[in-house]
Parts: sequence; structure tokens; C-alpha cells
Amino acid sequence: MRNLQTTHIPKAAADLVFGTGKDHNMTDSSTIIVDREGLDHLADALIDEAVEELDGTSFQPTLVAANDTDPFPIPSISEPYQRAPELTALAEDLLKRDVQIIDDMNWTLKGATVRYLWKQKGGSKRGEARTSDVSRLGGLARHYGRADFTVWIAVDHAKEMKPTYKQVRAMIFHELSHIEKRTTEDGEISHHLRNHDVEAFTGELELFGMWRDELRVAAEAFQQVGLWKPDREGESGDE
Ligand SMILES: [Zn+2]
Repeated sequence: MRNLQTTHIPKAAADLVFGTGKDHNMTDSSTIIVDREGLDHLADALIDEAVEELDGTSFQPTLVAANDTDPFPIPSISEPYQRAPELTALAEDLLKRDVQIIDDMNWTLKGATVRYLWKQKGGSKRGEARTSDVSRLGGLARHYGRADFTVWIAVDHAKEMKPTYKQVRAMIFHELSHIEKRTTEDGEISHHLRNHDVEAFTGELELFGMWRDELRVAAEAFQQVGLWKPDREGESGDE
């Protein structure tokens, strides 16, 4: 009889790699029972399967051809997380754009793997619905997820918001903008999460104006784009 061992992996990693794990000998969503030798083997096989599913070429074209103002189809999912090949395709399309800001983003993201997921419930943060987020994976989650970051969009909030393609692309851009690249003196590269360029309350602006440097920078950007509305046609300019 084989010497079975119980190996615990973080729930996030289990969700990412194994799904509910029904077929994978998992006693619950965070525990997998397998002999030591078999663990890496099993994980490799499952990850390969997942990556194949993710990187399959069968979807791309229709997504890229969709209009900016079309509503983005939000799936119904039965698990806490589900891989989102349609978001991967949208992100890949976004990162192919020939503008400086995307060049900069590609430079930053080089060497970092990002996985795109649907999340069943986005929850809230300080009373505000979290429609999308980015996480930096560490330790086992990173090992088993084979990714440095995950970007997710919450199915429950997205179904209420009914975002257009352009808005989902903006969401992805926003989350990817949280990723920054650091280089040590020895030239070693690592990726981290950073905060927003600007965080403010409208009341603060009304009462004190542009009292901080980042508010002045943001004000300039706001002036440049004018009053852009996501649902108005023919204003994207970058298509
Ligand atoms: Zn953010």
C-alpha cells in the first residue's frame, strides 16, 4: 500500500488549480491526499490541462471584433472562481494596442504571468462593491497557480452593472495598472502591487481644490479627456 500523505494547499490555490477537486482525490476544497511523489506529478498534469484550456485558440476572433458599446457577456458560474478565457483574450487584445501607455504597461508586465478569472461573489470593501481586483500570488498559490498575479471580475456585481466591452477593457487596464516592476541594483526584477495614482473625495476637492500634487496631475488628465461617457458611441478614438 502506498504511503498516503495529506498536503494542505491554500484555498485560493486549490480553487485556481483544482476547481472543486471532485475528480482529484480532494477531501475538501483545500486538502488533497496523494503520496509525496505523486503530488508534483498530479499537479503538473492538472496545471497543464488548465493551461491548455486557458490558452486554447478556439475563442479569440468574435471578442476582438465586438463593438466597444456592446454589453460584455457575463457568464453564470457555479464555483467560487472560474477561469475566464474571454477576459484573457480581451486583455491580450488590449495589450496589442500601439500607444505609449500600453507600451509602458507591456514593459512593466514583462516577466510576470497574469491569470484572468471570474469570481462568483465580489463582496465589498468599505461599503463599496468590489467589481474587480488584482492579487499578487505568493508561496504555494503562486507555485500551483503558475501565475504571479490574478485579475478577477465579480460575476454578481458585473451582472448588475452590465458593463460594455470598453468598460471591461477599462477594468482590466485598471487592475493591470496596479502592477509595478522593481529592479534591484543587481538587475534582479520583481513585480509588486501599487496603489492608485490618486485617491480623493469629491467633497475634499470642492472644499480645498487641488491641494495635493497628485490631485493636480489627475486634474490635468481629467481636463485632457473631457467628460467621457462609457455608453456614448463614436468617441473612443483609439479603435
Ligand atoms: Zn484599483
